Amino acid sequence: MSSILPTTISGSLPKPAWLADRQQLWAPWALEGEDLAEAKRDAVRVVLRDQETAGIDIVTDGEQTRQHFVTTFIEGLAGVDFENRATVKIRQRYDASVPRVVGEVSRPRPVYVDDARFLVSESQRPVKYQLPGPMTMADTLADEFYGDREQLAMAFADILNAEAKELAAAGVSVIQFDEPAFNVYMNDVKAWGMRALDRAAAGVGCKTAVHICYGYGIEANIKWKETLGSEWRQYEETFPVIAASTIDQISLEAANSRVPVELLGLLRGKDVMVGVIDVATEAIETPEEIVATIQRALDYVPLENLIPSTNCGLVPLSRDVARAKLRALGAGAALARTELGS
Ligand code: ZN
Repeated sequence: MSSILPTTISGSLPKPAWLADRQQLWAPWALEGEDLAEAKRDAVRVVLRDQETAGIDIVTDGEQTRQHFVTTFIEGLAGVDFENRATVKIRQRYDASVPRVVGEVSRPRPVYVDDARFLVSESQRPVKYQLPGPMTMADTLADEFYGDREQLAMAFADILNAEAKELAAAGVSVIQFDEPAFNVYMNDVKAWGMRALDRAAAGVGCKTAVHICYGYGIEANIKWKETLGSEWRQYEETFPVIAASTIDQISLEAANSRVPVELLGLLRGKDVMVGVIDVATEAIETPEEIVATIQRALDYVPLENLIPSTNCGLVPLSRDVARAKLRALGAGAALARTELGS
């Protein structure tokens, strides 16, 4: 583990074609049964190796064992019909095929704990595991039972808390809640979203993190970003609330984004995962570009709190581009460590 500027990724990596069709973002599996289980384990081994050789310090499973970062978790719960799915607009911007909540939600059994145990056993490095955040879960389904997003999010928070505690007990070092909805419903974050997230993270026996982004580099997100004006100030509303929370680390976009860098100063006291890799372009960042992004962040984030990362998941990119971006992240952080004399 690097003594300063430890690197990580926000989460996902593209899957191999033998596991799922890489032309589709939330593609169906290419295999089933025991063949699928074995293929998932092999894919996890491949992405671990890619991260380790690139010099990534805190590794993930690249979401190789899940189709979708939210709905796969929801499908592990009771009270949900995921066979007769509904299509709804999510994050106020694009249609997605989602499960329907038809009764009280509960977790009859752990969802990711076996997968996490395998990941920990295969890795020599600290492992980060991702769960969807409660607000983003409530925004990625068709609710036909609760009729109230806050109430539904709180029910999810209790389920997430039980899962997170078991993931930590399985040896996971960081649990990251993915909350892209925090950049869309800022008033709800203040009213109940942060409270739901704190409830999900309460008493978890490892570091906790939240990832708040402007989405994958897909067309719907690129068009949405064009409507956000010359400065993206969504974080300005939510960071003060997050700074007062129990969450240890915050993952945010900084590379090629229009987020004013001074907003990072609102997270005083927290570890900040600064996105130094743009996921919306196939251009590979140079180490010097990454050092420059780190340097800008260092005006507002103390060195000991800065974790170079990616803006968001790398899943929509090709495997070659994703691997090159991992290597760029490792090389850029290494150069920054040298330049900072450590
Ligand atoms: Zn993201």
